[in-house]
Amino acid sequence: MARSPLNLDNTPLGVWRRLHAALMPDYNRKATAYWWALVVLGLASLAGSAWQLVGLPLPSLLLIAGGIALTMLMALYPLKIPRTDQRFSLGDVFIVLLLLTQGAAAASIAAGLESLVSSWRSSRRWTTRLGSTTIAAFSMFVCGHALQPLLTRMALDTADNAAPLVLATMAFGVVYSAVSALLMSGVARFKRNEPLRMADLVSVFGWVGGASAGASAIAALLFITERLAGLGVMLTIVPTLGLLLTTMHFFSRQQEADEAVRHAAAQTLEREAELAVSQARQREAEQAAQHLRDLETSERRFNSAFTHASIGMALLSLDGTIHLANPALQTLLGCPDASLEERLFTDFVVTADRPRLANTLARLASGSADTAPVELCCQQPNHGKDGGKNGSKDGDEVWVSIGCSLFTAPDAAGPSLIMQIQDITARRSAEIELQHRAYHDKLTGLPNRDRFHQALGAAIERADGGPGRAFAVLFLDFDRFKLINDSKGHTVGDEFLVAASRRLGQCLRKGDMLARLGGDEFAILAGGLGNDGDAVDMAERLLGAMKEPLQLSAMEITATASVGITFSSLGYSRPEDMLRDADIAMYRAKVDGKARYALFDVKLHTEVANRVRLEADLRQALADRTLTLAYQPLYDLNNGQLLGFEALARWAHPELGPVSPATFIPIAEESGLITQLTDFATDSACRQLKAWQDEHPGLADLHVHVNVAARDVADPDFVARIERTLAATGLASQSLVIELTENILMAQLSAALGTLTALRVLGVGLSVDDFGTGYSSLSHLAVLPIDSLKIDMSFVRPLRAGSKEAAVIRAIVLLGKSLDKQVIAEGIETALQKDLLRELGCDIGQGYHLSRPLSVDAVTRLLQADPAAAAQAPARRLTDARPPAASPELAARPAGAEDQGAVLIH
Ligand code: C2E
Ligand code: MG
Ligand code: MG
Repeated sequence: MARSPLNLDNTPLGVWRRLHAALMPDYNRKATAYWWALVVLGLASLAGSAWQLVGLPLPSLLLIAGGIALTMLMALYPLKIPRTDQRFSLGDVFIVLLLLTQGAAAASIAAGLESLVSSWRSSRRWTTRLGSTTIAAFSMFVCGHALQPLLTRMALDTADNAAPLVLATMAFGVVYSAVSALLMSGVARFKRNEPLRMADLVSVFGWVGGASAGASAIAALLFITERLAGLGVMLTIVPTLGLLLTTMHFFSRQQEADEAVRHAAAQTLEREAELAVSQARQREAEQAAQHLRDLETSERRFNSAFTHASIGMALLSLDGTIHLANPALQTLLGCPDASLEERLFTDFVVTADRPRLANTLARLASGSADTAPVELCCQQPNHGKDGGKNGSKDGDEVWVSIGCSLFTAPDAAGPSLIMQIQDITARRSAEIELQHRAYHDKLTGLPNRDRFHQALGAAIERADGGPGRAFAVLFLDFDRFKLINDSKGHTVGDEFLVAASRRLGQCLRKGDMLARLGGDEFAILAGGLGNDGDAVDMAERLLGAMKEPLQLSAMEITATASVGITFSSLGYSRPEDMLRDADIAMYRAKVDGKARYALFDVKLHTEVANRVRLEADLRQALADRTLTLAYQPLYDLNNGQLLGFEALARWAHPELGPVSPATFIPIAEESGLITQLTDFATDSACRQLKAWQDEHPGLADLHVHVNVAARDVADPDFVARIERTLAATGLASQSLVIELTENILMAQLSAALGTLTALRVLGVGLSVDDFGTGYSSLSHLAVLPIDSLKIDMSFVRPLRAGSKEAAVIRAIVLLGKSLDKQVIAEGIETALQKDLLRELGCDIGQGYHLSRPLSVDAVTRLLQADPAAAAQAPARRLTDARPPAASPELAARPAGAEDQGAVLIH
């Protein structure tokens, strides 16, 4: 049956056990037994010693009591042994002195009581106090009794045995302290169940033994002094000794206090250091915990960002194998429901772009770049007919922008790749669209001039590569496009260009490029030519194709074209040069009669270069007003009366000399300078005639004929320009006659009709120049407001009696008369021609036979010489006229030459 804890064992053993447990909780059985044994022995020693002292005489007892008192007093002031917990009381001096003088019993009691005082001061435990007291008493009892006979004997003859006595006493002190220390340390050893180690004992005993030996030596010396000098000396030494000891004690206490302060300071420092270390450790621990938390947060964020990112993201190995892909990437690559893991990213890239991806990955893997952006085209996998259930566009191409960087995961063996993949299809499409627009003609969809330029540049570079790479450029311009545009409107014009470009495209071979350069100009880059004949064949095919009418929405149109061709074999290095030469050849084809092709050669180039130079110089001459007019008189062929002049432009080039109108008038027409030239001619002629009329009032009926061009007639402002000139010069409108060639008139019929009518209303006369070359229809002639027909000199020059030309001239004269129009003959070079013309009924004429074109001064002199004759009696002059210069080229002689060569009919 278990015992209740309250059911106390009140037997003596039980009480003893409880008492033992309360008072000696740390004493085990062995330690308890050992302690009690020593206590019993110690108490027995004390009792035995007291018994021995009982019989002693009172003086001895008083001495013993005094010694014990001194011993106990000394115990109150122990000396601390530096750097140990050991204390040493100088009471030992008196204990040993008592031993030497009074015997072991007195010493044993003194040792016990000294130890009691010491332990009372140093410990609160009664076991320690009682144990120390009894051990000291017992140790002294045993050691004292063991050594006392020897010491007593030696003490009998103190003077002789002084030194041995001192040594023996010192040896005693050592033995005594060793025994007491050994016994004392046994308690702790039994409590801790530790074996006795001599090294520990020596370390504990070392200082105590030394001090004890010293105290014993002092005691021995005091003893010897007392024996030799008497008690009086003793009584003087002892207080001195006491004083010394007290001083030492306080010195020792002071040191102890200092040491305690140092110790406390050291402990404080140590604690602070420990605190700092612990705080640092705590901070480190907190930081580590925070780092861990941050890592977790960052990992959560990364996972969240990775999964929910709107752009595609993937982790890949360096060979491009996908280890992790987010849903956005799955959707982007057309596999929204399929895992991409362990698939090669390259498999999704179009074949053409794979080398670029491989190159990017290689650069990253080699470490030559940490990040590498690249734009690629990906192909979504084709899942077959049933694929794309989820709305994915099977097989679609997706343009992506990839940001690719190296990274090393903390627990990974080596670096991996992280890719951000963005869908840029919309941007790319816009770019492609923009690029297409930049390089293509909006109307026809054909490559434009820039694109053609690029392709031509590339072809020129390739042509350097050797034979078999020869090519040609064909420059094509429609002959009547402006007419179509002006007469039918721009919508029809545009429709025509689209249809024509398709027709032209059908004539190309594979690899040829057709481009629209602008307006109605097209160019063809014909590559892979066997020989130059291939390009000619192509030109013929193009011209042939354009002979067939083009079917437009509202009408059919046939439009011929002129083609210029140049060849890479001429060694071009710049695309613009080659295109320019093809253009020059095209111009030649136009000049040669249109609807044909012409090949470029160096002569052509020189011609064009000259033309370009002349155009610039003419522009300058017009700006500087260095052009002049020559005036060729017109006479009545019947009576020789001067009727007026034809104003003819003259240009004396500063370097080239006189330039023929046959050269510079076409240049002015093509360059647009003709408007300026016409204004110059009308203004000068009107101003000059007005001046002559003002000078010679009898010449008020003289006319001046001014030549105008097709562009003038088409100019809606033309009538206003004439009006302004008349107003500015003050010439009567009836004095001005506009000459228009028959060809221009017929080509510009619809535009001309309004202009001519307005001029007629204004009072200005109109003459059809070079008549007979333009195949005018009679119906037109009848309705047009024309005053005169000027027979072309090609009919006059070969005129003979009864010739074909004579018949034509007779017909023209009859026509003129029936339509009530004057008939004028030009280029009369001989009297015979003049006479025949007169006979044929032609009333008015001009020509070298009558007068060459004259300078202003020459005409002025002519009029001043005989104005009345000039106006009224020319018949005489006609008969007297000298023969003309033989060559028709003289017509283009400069004003000065004409001036000198002027034949006045006097
Ligand atoms: P056109 O209007 O038919 O002028 C007559 C041309 O015949 C002039 O040549 C004149 O010098 C030349 N001629 C006169 N009599 C004879 C002759 O007996 N025999 C020969 N063989 N020729 C004769 P030119 O001055 O060289 O002018 C040539 C053409 O240039 C003109 O032919 C006219 O179409 C044009 N032209 C001249 N000046 C102007 C001008 O100011 N404006 C415009 N638009 N054209 C002009
Ligand atoms: Mg003329
Ligand atoms: Mg003419």
